[in-house]
Formats: sequence, structure tokens, C-alpha cells
Amino acid sequence: MKAEIIAVGSELLLGEIANTNAQYLSEWLASAGIDVHYHTVVGDNHERMQETFRQAQQRAELLVITGGLGPTEDDLTKEVLADLLGRDLVLDQAAYERIEGFLKTRQREMTINERKQALVIEGATVLRNDAGLAPGMSVQTEHHQYIVLPGVPREMKQILKDHFSHLFGQETIRSRTLRFFGIGESALNDRLETLIKEAKNPSVAPYAELAEVRLRLTAKALDQQEADRMLDELEQHVLAEVGMYFYGYGETSLPEVVLKRYQEAGLTLSLAESLTGGAVASGLVDVSGASQVLRGSAVVYDDAAKQAVLSVPEELLKEHTAVSKEVAIAMAEGARSLYQSDIAVALTGEAGPTSNSGKTIGTVYCAIADAHGTRIVEWQYPSFDRGMIRLRAVKDTYFLLLKHLEKAPE
Ligand code: ATP
Repeated sequence: MKAEIIAVGSELLLGEIANTNAQYLSEWLASAGIDVHYHTVVGDNHERMQETFRQAQQRAELLVITGGLGPTEDDLTKEVLADLLGRDLVLDQAAYERIEGFLKTRQREMTINERKQALVIEGATVLRNDAGLAPGMSVQTEHHQYIVLPGVPREMKQILKDHFSHLFGQETIRSRTLRFFGIGESALNDRLETLIKEAKNPSVAPYAELAEVRLRLTAKALDQQEADRMLDELEQHVLAEVGMYFYGYGETSLPEVVLKRYQEAGLTLSLAESLTGGAVASGLVDVSGASQVLRGSAVVYDDAAKQAVLSVPEELLKEHTAVSKEVAIAMAEGARSLYQSDIAVALTGEAGPTSNSGKTIGTVYCAIADAHGTRIVEWQYPSFDRGMIRLRAVKDTYFLLLKHLEKAPE
């Protein structure tokens, strides 16, 4: 990484003070293994500062800027950089309160210029200044990192010590995995096409696995806080586009999220499984703590079992066959009353390879019953693979359970 140190201040050009900050920063960057290619000094002049920052952008990735953060009219660093980046200056509440507290001890009101010290560049990581009032800032953009520090040497050193000493020199890489269900990899790619192609830092990479898609977001920055902030921002963009398919982070799984959410909501579950032969329950039981949510699951494969265990009426089975909306509803209601759970889900369907019910292979009915009634959902899977149909039905059931909770009245 190439760095440029920019010291701002007409006093430096007039020879009134020596640029000891640049010397200090150079030593510090060198010890962190960062090559400093240029030292630049510029006076307190808007145009010349902008020109200097522009030039530095061409030849360095890291711009360390010191000076010009103070309260007076000629302290222009933030304004010029914000202009250049096309960002606004916003009030940092913590810095504002520090100034307010300081003035209180002197029994003085805040002037407009003093308030100016609490303004920071939008989106910057604010670097608290324990030795003074104007905070520093770290701003990450796609191609550059800007570290903006006060000119007063004692304040500059304090910020470096507090915010960078343990991190500097080792670029921090942070990753976050977002998990999606119900959207294929190509559909997700289409929806996020620009982000996936153009985002370099943070970057976005999709991975498909068994009817799910994972998105891995990776950010590189000089400190962890900044990397996390970059990931938060990217995550917001991603979720604005495909949030309805999002179900969790990292190494979690659909059954784990289902159990967690139902446990948090204080709700119990039971199941009636024909097509899936207990696979929905088995996935839940794999997760520790399942007993707090799952009451039981009836694997009722045969018609007689559906009648005997879940009291599905014989006439219903005769009239509609086991693979029908009516039977799925009766199974869910039967399981709910058998296990005395808040919510019950039943699955019946035609997984092939031959159809016994007359229904198309890949037809699945899933009924979900709670105190407000029973809802039926029909899925049609194009696959003729028995295993895939059952796997999809299991995962769709988990996702339905999650969505049901989002919709459920308080
Ligand atoms: P603050 O916000 O903390 O008041 P500032 O960022 O506005 O500081 P300046 O007003 O540019 O900083 O400078 C304040 C004082 O810090 C200067 O009068 C000088 O004593 C010292 N200083 C500034 N720049 C440098 C430098 N590059 N090297 C050494 N000392 C400096």
C-alpha cells in the first residue's frame, strides 16, 4: 500500500513551525510496513487543498491528512475532503457532547465555530479525540483510505495510539455470510448483478448449496470498526433487494433459525409427516434445545395410520385421496390437537417415481394450523427425483414456518 502524508497549514509554509507531524507519521507508517511516497504541505486555501488531495488520490491509496480540523474559518480540511468525496458534513453527537461538557466547565455557550468541530464527514468512522475537542476521522472508499487527524501533535498522537496502534500495518479482513432460501443462484445473481460485478471492496460472492444460496461479503480496511461499517452498508443494499429470502447469518441452518425464533416467541410446534417420513422433525431434532419447541411428529404414511393417529376421517381419504389439500388440513389439525402444540404442520405429496394418487409427481401440500385457523400451501416441484422433491419439501416447510411467524398476529 502506498501512502501520502498531507500536512495542512499556512504556518508550515511560512516557516513558523516545522512539519514534525509528517516526520512522526512517516516513522509510524514505516514501522507498520507502509510505504510513504510523498510528503505534501498545503496552505489553508480551499482550491489548493482540493488540488493537493486530488493529486494524492492519483498516487496513493492511503492519504493521511493532518491539520485544519479546528474551529476557525481557515480550518477547511473536512469541508474540502467532503466536497471531493461528494459527501455531506454531519454532526457527531458524541463529539458535540464533549464540546458542550468542556464549555460547561467554563460556563460558556457554544459558538458556531466551536460547534463546527463536531461535524464529521458522512459515513466516516469517527476517531474520538481524548486529548482535544476535534475528533479525527477514517473514511474508506472503493479505492482509498483517508485518515484525517488534528494538527496539534499531542492530539494527533493520542488518536493514533487509541485507534490504530494495535491494528495498523495489518489490514483487517472481515467477512460476513448471509443465507437465503427460496431464490435460485441465477435469480439472486440477476437481482444483485451490479453489486456482485462491481463491488471490489467490500466484495460479494454467491455460493449455491442444496436449494439455498449463501452470499459472502468481504471488506478490507485498516481497522475492524471500519470494515464492519462497510459490511453493514453493503448488507443494507443487499437486503433492500432480496431481503424477503434472507433467513440468517454464517453457519446457521434453516431448522436452527426456526427453533430459535419459535423459542423466542414462546411457541410450540408439532408435525404430521407423510411424504417426508419424519425428515422435518429429524432436522429440528439435530439442533440442541429442540425439546423446548418441538412437541412431536407423527409419521403417518399409510391411510390407516392417518386415521388411527390423527383422526383423519375415512371419507375424506376416500373422496380426495391422501395427497390432497383436504387431507393435509385434517392432518395438521389432528397433530395440533394430539400434541397440544401452538402450531402444527402437515405434509403430504407425491414424490414418485410413480404416482399412486393420480396427482402429478412433485405435487406437495403443506398445511399449517394455529389457533386462528389452518392455511394450505401447494408446491409443484419440476424434479422427478424422489430425494430432491422430499428435500425441497423439508426446506420449504422450514421457510414457511419462519414466514408464518413474521405474519402471525401478536
Ligand atoms: P485542533 O483542531 O486540535 O485545534 P487543527 O487540526 O485545527 O487542530 P491546526 O490549526 O492546523 O490544527 O494547527 C494547530 C497547531 O498544531 C499549530 O499551531 C501547530 O502548533 C500545530 N501543528 C499543526 N500542524 C503541524 C505539523 N504538521 N507539524 C507540527 N505541528 C503542527
